[in-house]
Amino acid sequence: MKSNAKMENMELDFFTRELFDELFAPGTASSGVTKEEIAEMRNTLDKLKQTELTQPILDFFSRLLEFRRRQSILPQDLGLSNENLLVLAKHHEEIDEHEVTVGGRINRALPIVEVANERVKDYLLRKEAEAASGIELWDQIQENVVRIMDKLNMSEEEWHSYKGQLKYAIDSVDTLSRVIDLPSSAIKDVLRVTQSYRMRVTPYYASLIQPGRVNDPVLIQCVPTGEMVDNVGEEIPPVAADHSPARLIDQFYPRVITIKSTNMCAMYCTHCLRIAHIGKKDRIYCNEAYREALDYIRKNSFIRDVLITGGDVFALPNNMIKFLLDELDSIDHVTVKRLGTRIPVTAPMRLDNELLDILSKSNDKKPIRVVTQINTAQEITPVSREGFKKLSSRVMTVMNQAVLLKGINDTRVKMWKLCETIHEAYVRPYYVFNCSYRNTQFAHLRVPVEIGRDIIESMYGNISGDAIPRYICTAGGKVPMHRDNVVGHKDSAVTLRKPWSGEEVDYPDANPEIYRKTDFAFARYKD
Ligand SMILES: *Cc1c(COP(=O)(O)O)cnc(C)c1O
Ligand code: SF4
Repeated sequence: MKSNAKMENMELDFFTRELFDELFAPGTASSGVTKEEIAEMRNTLDKLKQTELTQPILDFFSRLLEFRRRQSILPQDLGLSNENLLVLAKHHEEIDEHEVTVGGRINRALPIVEVANERVKDYLLRKEAEAASGIELWDQIQENVVRIMDKLNMSEEEWHSYKGQLKYAIDSVDTLSRVIDLPSSAIKDVLRVTQSYRMRVTPYYASLIQPGRVNDPVLIQCVPTGEMVDNVGEEIPPVAADHSPARLIDQFYPRVITIKSTNMCAMYCTHCLRIAHIGKKDRIYCNEAYREALDYIRKNSFIRDVLITGGDVFALPNNMIKFLLDELDSIDHVTVKRLGTRIPVTAPMRLDNELLDILSKSNDKKPIRVVTQINTAQEITPVSREGFKKLSSRVMTVMNQAVLLKGINDTRVKMWKLCETIHEAYVRPYYVFNCSYRNTQFAHLRVPVEIGRDIIESMYGNISGDAIPRYICTAGGKVPMHRDNVVGHKDSAVTLRKPWSGEEVDYPDANPEIYRKTDFAFARYKD
């Protein structure tokens, strides 16, 4: 027993007082205590006086509370005095580096944790069933790989090479129907759509499609459906033309520009914003085009950040990528670079050592960020994760720009799962784009502004801050769509305020009726 002077110092903090009040509140025991229990509790208390660990003390008080709550058994019934417990409580406070009291832990900290955990319980229960990642689906995907290799007559070696992936890319309805089981009406319609829009799916990306799922989130990103031609509406010219001050260049901001270095992609997305630019066939640009683009950058000393995009910059051969990076590195005012590519999820075999070394060397001179596009956790497999791991060790960071798409990532569970899965695959969520209104081709995949906002806002306080993307749209520049920025609602549009100018713009929203339709994309084909 400690000295009296010390006992007087034993002021209890609010939460420990609360704990003691509850423990010692008068009452009648609803059941008896056994001798063994008494002996055990006294024994434990004696031992705990010497402990240097906080957890056993916490456990001891928790057991006392349980006795009190379940059977109305008071500490006295267990042969434990108020004074002894007080000493033990103080001991906890003394050994804890931050002088946290036992009452503070039990009555304050732990309930806060419990309430926090409660907020994600439903997500944890649903995330695998509602939004399985390619890692979780890996067994099924490997079965798909075997099936697809067989149908396409591809060798193991060809499968694992980028060249092989391109050589056997699925670009005809004929091949598609051999590889993926689709209703005959769907096949017919895909044939109709591919008269106007290009289809190209790498065998690897096709292997991520889960058989038997009508609107598989990978399938509807890569195989065009009837809506793409049927959704005709008011044609809005592509943004690119408004913002191209020089050949291959897009500029809207004072210091950031993009070079559209190629129109090639390993795979063509059904929701591609650059659908007009992608065109009908792969084009290699002439040296003069690159020279003019680089001259523009060289002459404009405002330019600080250059984003080489496409198409997909990794669709270019290594020597071209090296050439462009070397040129940029030789321009003093260009101090940071970005590369836009979706290839790590559509054809991860492309990330060969030669490319990685080129990136490393240029990154040593001035930072490179790789900007990718992943829209569903299903696109992260052990193979793409390995690719991102290698990439992220060679460049400053890898960031994701997802597009908010109906049936793909338009629920809280799907979006959270996407962000967590890419975070765990060395990729940082950067933007979530509200899918553009400009291209009517994919109006059926648009999601209303507010649904996206609610999903993104639901992440705050529930997911690591650096796994929360910013929600934006393209409306003459990238405009944030967080609550403060949406300054008005009209019938079918929201009014957004541009942070850099205060200018207000109307942004047509997704049509709620179309959004509510469940028979979209492949769900429209019954037989
Ligand atoms: C997206 C984009 C950029 C880059 O914008 P950040 O907000 O810096 O990511 C720059 N220029 C154009 C034309 C763009 O479309
Ligand atoms: S990878 Fe990008 S540029 Fe290429 S088709 Fe997809 S969205 Fe368009």
